[in-house]
Amino acid sequence: MLTVEGLRSRYGRIEVLHGIDFAVDSGEIVAVVGANGAGKTTLLKCLSGVQPVYAGEITFRGEKMTKVPAYKRLRRGLAQSPEGRQIFTNLTVEENLRLGAYLFNDDRVEQDMEEAFIMFPILKEKRNLAAGGLSGGQQQMLAIARALMGRPSCLLLDEPSMGLAPILVAQIFDVVRSLKALDVTVLLVEQNAFGALNIADRGYVIETGKISMSGPAQELIEDPRIREAYLGV
Ligand code: ATP
Repeated sequence: MLTVEGLRSRYGRIEVLHGIDFAVDSGEIVAVVGANGAGKTTLLKCLSGVQPVYAGEITFRGEKMTKVPAYKRLRRGLAQSPEGRQIFTNLTVEENLRLGAYLFNDDRVEQDMEEAFIMFPILKEKRNLAAGGLSGGQQQMLAIARALMGRPSCLLLDEPSMGLAPILVAQIFDVVRSLKALDVTVLLVEQNAFGALNIADRGYVIETGKISMSGPAQELIEDPRIREAYLGV
């Protein structure tokens, strides 16, 4: 569904992605794990089109995306739920969800919203309240639900567990795993290597702008190098 070949990206003259290669198959959950500053967010921004790519190719559902602007990538089915959630705090929960569906003006929007409320009952309870009043975990749920309102076939998730209490981290990873049932392919970028690999089919490890390891998620969890560097065991 998504392939990335030789991807390079820079901030000014400083290159931070040095030729990234990976692929995501339809229906998979793929985790990209790595330390703070490894280049995970930059990689996702390149995929969603908000960060320029200096060399390499991104192909999504058979179509070259590298020069396609960000808003058109969403129309093609590639949606990002950004780091730090970036919800509209002054708008209500429902208004945030409607913004996620801004591409559409059909009856399915209401239906999608009802499905979001089934997935996240707390959002239904708080649908008319300002999103800024939600807890961190609820805001993360809203960010994911808003991205789903764009009817993506592939969802790019940037650190959904960041800053959440452990119980909420588990809840968010459960939600991500449940996206499989909705036929949404997921690329999950995380510092929480264990949590991400635990729900992923396959994983990639990114270190200072390069992929250093890849494989089935379970094999990565069991790999002594990963355990030492990322799992603290
Ligand atoms: P984090 O988990 O902290 O978000 P990350 O793995 O997502 O880390 P990036 O945010 O992609 O890493 O950063 C990769 C490198 O690019 C880092 O060295 C970072 O300092 C640098 N960088 C990120 N954003 C910018 C920017 N806007 N201008 C210059 N350098 C940047």
